[in-house]
Amino acid sequence: AAEEGFDIEDVEGAIGEAGHGPLPVLAVVGRPNVGKSTLVNRIIGRREAVVEDKPGVTRDRVTYEAEWAGRRFKLVDTGGWEQDVLGIDASVAAQAEYAIDAADAVVFVVDAKVGATDTDEAVVRLLRKAGKPVVLCANKVDGLSGEADASYLWALGLGEPHPVSALHGRGTGDMLDAVLEALPEAPAQTFGTAVGGPRRIALIGRPNVGKSSLLNKVANEDRVVVNEVAGTTRDPVDELIELGGVTWKFVDTAGIRKRVHLQQGADYYASLRTAAAVEKAEVAVVLIDASETISVQDQRIVTMAVEAGRAIVLAFNKWDTLDEERRYYLEREIDTELAQVSWAPRVNVSARTGRHMEKLVPAIETAIEGWESRVPTGRLNAFLGELVAAHPHPVRGGKQPRILFGTQAGTKPPRFVLFSSGFIEHGYRRFVERRLREEFSFEGTPIHISVRVRE
Ligand code: GDP
Ligand code: GDP
Repeated sequence: AAEEGFDIEDVEGAIGEAGHGPLPVLAVVGRPNVGKSTLVNRIIGRREAVVEDKPGVTRDRVTYEAEWAGRRFKLVDTGGWEQDVLGIDASVAAQAEYAIDAADAVVFVVDAKVGATDTDEAVVRLLRKAGKPVVLCANKVDGLSGEADASYLWALGLGEPHPVSALHGRGTGDMLDAVLEALPEAPAQTFGTAVGGPRRIALIGRPNVGKSSLLNKVANEDRVVVNEVAGTTRDPVDELIELGGVTWKFVDTAGIRKRVHLQQGADYYASLRTAAAVEKAEVAVVLIDASETISVQDQRIVTMAVEAGRAIVLAFNKWDTLDEERRYYLEREIDTELAQVSWAPRVNVSARTGRHMEKLVPAIETAIEGWESRVPTGRLNAFLGELVAAHPHPVRGGKQPRILFGTQAGTKPPRFVLFSSGFIEHGYRRFVERRLREEFSFEGTPIHISVRVRE
């Protein structure tokens, strides 16, 4: 009776959509001007097209969700990368390296009209080394006559060049079909091989908040585990560290340890690094410099982790430097600037003195627990029934939309599908989320709620 008005296929369909796990990651790499941005915009259907492209203005968004033939994936856009003082070759190589590192498959874009350059060859060597699946995009083949240009690119040794006009759309469908074949169903780095392996932590935060100090502190005090752990492929950029008697994998630590001297592009590099680390991790520890005013950049990093659906811990570092006045203002800032993650466990630490380091692990464990938790359908509906009875949705246009029933469609993070008899307003959804959190304690995890309305 609870399912009034819905047949089982509706419900299963909705659950299937809402319950998707983490998405595989596709990176688009290549030299400047080969048409990467044009291709990215075409793939994401220009919905999120990057229009304003002033040099020096960093785009904070480097990953997009895309869909082709019913399959969803994440697209890493490297078009925002600025060339730097190292020169074009080094810059393209660095960009490609980081993007490849973050990806499950790569689209390598070459300008077919120009043909393969030395820089292209350098990227090919990186691609070979990385061993990830590659689809070769021979771009700027706007018509039949250009196809001969594309065929020269067989010489790169990456298999079939796919002749494409990113500008006009010619050939992009066939190329995307090839991409889907190359792309694993689920991101290998996240859920494929690593199930049962050590938990993966991304230590993120803007430059100078103390990431490398914190990493050194925890690694030194608790010994870095260098040997391989059975069942995991060890990535040289990851570090296995034992904390509180448990081995954790800190992902993407090369970006933390290595100081890359980039001038332009440094912010972009940092964003890409953060996105890459977050993609690979289960839990994000967002480090914030408590001695400074919480900034827009801090908020962006938090947003990245929330949007990626990761478990989140907030760590306020440099606590040793805080006086009473700063502590007062910090609390106010946390309330206003970090309200979107008011549910995240929080630790106040000092990488310098080691203060409260022992609180980090319990906070991480709490967040993971919330992230993986599941509410049985019976309990959820008992809760929803009481909630709706005690706090009905406001009447709109003479009708009262009602939540009929709900189910948890997935975990990591928890995803709910609610079925309703009418449009549920944003405010009411927020209210339901708040009450869900109070009732079932999803500490440290974003939760997703989608609503299906009966026609
Ligand atoms: P990116 O630097 O690799 O991101 O390259 P852009 O996407 O910014 O493209 C560089 C230039 O090449 C722009 O002027 C595009 O309009 C042009 N372009 C991109 N794709 C094509 C294509 O398929 N055919 C033609 N003729 N021009 C293209
Ligand atoms: P990263 O860029 O986030 O990796 O930051 P670093 O670890 O390089 O730290 C930036 C600066 O902050 C360095 O000068 C550190 O010595 C200093 N720092 C890091 N953690 C602390 C802390 O807990 N207390 C104090 N007083 N300084 C710190």
